[in-house]
Amino acid sequence: MRVILIGPPGAGKGTQSERIMAEYPLAHISTGDILRENVKNGTELGKSAKSFMDAGKLVPDDVIIRMMKERLAKDDARKGFLLDGFPRTTPQAEALGTLLKELSLPLDAVLLLEISDDEVVNRLCNRRVCSSCGAIYNALSHPPKKDRVCDECGGEVTQRDDDKETVIRSRLSVYHEQTSPLISYYDGKGLLHRVGAAGAPDTALLYIETMKLGV
Ligand SMILES: [Zn+2]
Repeated sequence: MRVILIGPPGAGKGTQSERIMAEYPLAHISTGDILRENVKNGTELGKSAKSFMDAGKLVPDDVIIRMMKERLAKDDARKGFLLDGFPRTTPQAEALGTLLKELSLPLDAVLLLEISDDEVVNRLCNRRVCSSCGAIYNALSHPPKKDRVCDECGGEVTQRDDDKETVIRSRLSVYHEQTSPLISYYDGKGLLHRVGAAGAPDTALLYIETMKLGV
């Protein structure tokens, strides 16, 4: 099975991916991981990427695509993959399409996790994190026993700046702006599948099983 998972921040992409990977032997491929790996191993592509990152610039698409090409050609990925967080834009999707054609690895599906902006804001605004050990709490469903004090280590439990409503809303608007052309692109190719993500964290897995995707 070869799938792409798309969804806004806070849609639970990480958990949905884990549930899918527990049932299917797929290579989990994310841009962040392959960037880190190339930089760590000091590959030519890694050095090139690092020069952009050190200058505070975005790593250009052609560098990412070349890393993707190497990663997708590996044995585990040839057996099946789940692309997480890539592509983000239509030019990246087009380049990926060319690449997958070269490798004879056609996509089975693009799963779009759907959740309303308000639901994402609700989820993330209530997230609280221990500033010492990183333990995660929820102000409503799982608060620390003592207000603002971590159950695990006694550290201070706070709200991260990233989890404040205005920051979340602006990340969501960037997401919608970037991905709406991507969604039409894959819809036009008949590859897009919409999966509700407001409920349980295994809706994508259940959808794959019900639709018998990639079988
Ligand atoms: Zn703690």
